[in-house]
Formats: sequence, structure tokens, C-alpha cells
Amino acid sequence: MKIAPISEELFQRAQHSIPGGVNSPVRAFRAVGGNPRFMVSAKGPYMYDEDGNRYMEFINSWGPMILGHAAEIVQEAVQRAIPNSLSFGAPTRKEIEIAELIVDMVPSIEKVRMVNSGTEATMSAVRVARGYTGRNKMIKFEGCYHGHGDSFLIAAGSGAITLGVPDSPGVTKGVAADTLTAPFNNLEAVKTLVEANKDQVAAIILEPVAGNMGLVLPEAGFLQGLRDLCTKEGIVLIFDEVMTGFRLAPGGAQQLFGVTPDMTTLGKIIGGGMPVGAYGGKKEIMNFVAPAGPVYQAGTLSGNPIAMSAGMAMLQYLQAHPEVYTNLERTTTNMVNGMKQNMQELGMNFTINHVGSMFSIFFTEQPVTDFESAKTSDTAMFGRYFNAMLQRGVYLAPSQYESLFVSTAITDELVQEYLKANSEALKEALLR
Ligand code: PMP
Repeated sequence: MKIAPISEELFQRAQHSIPGGVNSPVRAFRAVGGNPRFMVSAKGPYMYDEDGNRYMEFINSWGPMILGHAAEIVQEAVQRAIPNSLSFGAPTRKEIEIAELIVDMVPSIEKVRMVNSGTEATMSAVRVARGYTGRNKMIKFEGCYHGHGDSFLIAAGSGAITLGVPDSPGVTKGVAADTLTAPFNNLEAVKTLVEANKDQVAAIILEPVAGNMGLVLPEAGFLQGLRDLCTKEGIVLIFDEVMTGFRLAPGGAQQLFGVTPDMTTLGKIIGGGMPVGAYGGKKEIMNFVAPAGPVYQAGTLSGNPIAMSAGMAMLQYLQAHPEVYTNLERTTTNMVNGMKQNMQELGMNFTINHVGSMFSIFFTEQPVTDFESAKTSDTAMFGRYFNAMLQRGVYLAPSQYESLFVSTAITDELVQEYLKANSEALKEALLR
């Protein structure tokens, strides 16, 4: 039984000086009840809180820690870089090296610009797509999250769903009018939107595997259908691979599904845990970015040497060790199969979506293929399940509308521990 009086006290204190006590909404545990745990350290598969509790964890800093926490290769690269100064604001060799590595790894990227977060990457990519096409509108999908740029906070996923603000106040009607939305996996709806807005759509942006309404996979033909439509209509297809990039394959979901977008946005793993994002794509499009072209985008700390060192170490490791992906797939499949067996034993038939090292449990018996079906999940049940897991030392994402991430630090032994906790927590969640 994990109790956390120090975390509770810190959360009370945090409310006075930080909005909602946290620097990013989902961390506040609003969707699942209870108090967030304040962390002090993490290593491998575990995080440790202020109260001295240990958690086996499946958030991995919302994705970046694919090798587990405090991976030595990344820590050492950061330590080697620090004595040379934390920032120059001038170009470095390392930025060329990481750009070349990204171009090598990600099929759609011929040129790339480094930024500081996934939000910056998507905001910039859409601006470039607008500048390149001379068109204003953008199509996004209900339940997909692309960071907190104004034009993306329309039918947005992740914390925006959890907190009931998929359309945020503060986004002007003018901005919202240029964002058109369609249900995920519904190619016909997209075709209809494109037809109704002929020659006005600059970009279609999507998470090729959606992770921000819980995990939702693209149905057969959906990604290719979008690719064909964009080619035919002169629309820039943007895959937001902030979550899936370097996670589902060295070249991300585009490599796994064999569909190449015009532009790609990246984040999370690309920084190895440091604040990094990137956007890239075809040369012809990326040459619109300043100073090569007229679309302005800049950053005081962009290409920061410490962040680049961490990212470079992470990407080099992943490129050199493709077995990471087969091992993660095997571990996650064992977890998913074990969970299905646990459910069967309890006479439950809930839905688990899974690809590579990402998965989500939905407390609904119907298939989850879009935001509407994701919303059929019993979120109160999810909250009970989450807290029952937390009490057993397993830290899951504190919301139904997130994907879970498995790291290479999860051993077969830990899978068994996880499955035991899962079985007990399911029983406890069902009882109440
Ligand atoms: N796009 C996707 C697909 C994401 O999952 C996220 C963050 N979860 C973002 C963009 C925004 O990235 P950041 O939080 O680094 O701004």
C-alpha cells in the first residue's frame, strides 16, 4: 500500500504558486482522483517519489525514456557536453550531425529544423505548409493532439479531453475557422471536407497512430488514402510523429506502415529527455523556412548543445540496435496477452489497442477506432483501476485518453509483476 503524505503536502503548497499545482495539466491527476506523486529520481523501470515510494512505470516521461530512466549512454553524453557551456546561440557541428542522422533515419525527411518542443514543431510545420501552398485551412482529426498551438486546440485530445476543454477559450473564432476536423479513420469525411474547401486546404495533419485519445490504430488503407488524396489535391500531408517517431520503428510510424508524408514533426525521444522537437520534410518545402526562405521561425535555445548531445546519443543507439524494437514488441505483446487472459478469467471483454511498445486499455467492449468509440470507455472504472495499480506500485498515465509506453527496462520478471498487479487491480476496480 503506497501512501504519500509528503506529496500531498507539496501538492497543497504548489496550488499557491503554480496554476493547478502543476506545469502540465494531466499531471494533476484530475481525471483519476487523488493526489499526484512528486518525484525525486528515476532509474531504469522505476520512479521514486518524495515519500520514498517506488513505482514501476509506463509513462516514461510521456514517451522519451524508451531505454528506461537515466540511460547511461544519454547521461554520459550530457555530462561530456556540459563543461563546454550550456548554450552558444551559434551553430555547432553537433547540429549538422543530428540533422544528418534524422535525415538518414526518417523516410520523409530531407531537411530538418530543430526546435524546443513538440508544440513548436507542429505550429511551425503548419505555418510552413501554409506558406508553401499559399492556402489557409488545415484538417485535423477529432481526439488527436498536436500540442497547445491555438489552431490545434479544436477537438483536441490528451489533457484537453480529460479537462473537458477540447475547444479552449482564448482561441479566437478567426483562428478556429481555419481548422477543419474529421473523425479519425474516416477517409470519406476527409474527402468531403476537401471537396467543400477546394484549393483552400494547406495541410492535413494527423498522428499516424493516435496516442492522445488512448491508443487508436489507423485502419488498413487510411494512411495511404490520405497520402493519395493529398498528392491529388496539392495538400501537404503532415505526420505528427512526436509520440511515434523513433518509438514504433527507427523511422517511426511512416516506416512501419510504409506511407511517406510530405512533412513530419518530432519530439520526445529525439531529445532523450531534454526539451527538443523538430520538423522536417521534402527539401522543396523546407527551403521555405527562414533564412533559406520567407517563412519565419526561430529559437534562442534551438539546437542547444546539451539537448543535441542527449538526442544524438539516443538516436545513435536506436539506429545501431534495431533489436530494441523487436524486444519491446515482444515484451508488450506478453503484457497485452497476459492482460487479456486476466480479463477472461474475470469474465471481462474490454478492448486493448496495441502496436509496438504502445498500448491502451479501454473499459468498453466495443472496438475503439476513433474519438467517438474511445469515449464509450467507462472513465470512472479507469480511475479506480489507475488508483488500484498505483497502490500496487505501478504508475500508469493518469487518464484514459493517453497511451502507455513500455521501455527496454521492463524485464520478463517485471512483466509478471505487472500482470499480477493488473489482475488484482481489475478485480478491485470491478468491485466498487
Ligand atoms: N504532438 C503529439 C502527437 C504529442 O503527443 C504531443 C505531446 N504529448 C505534442 C505534439 C506536443 O508536444 P510537447 O508537449 O513537447 O509540446
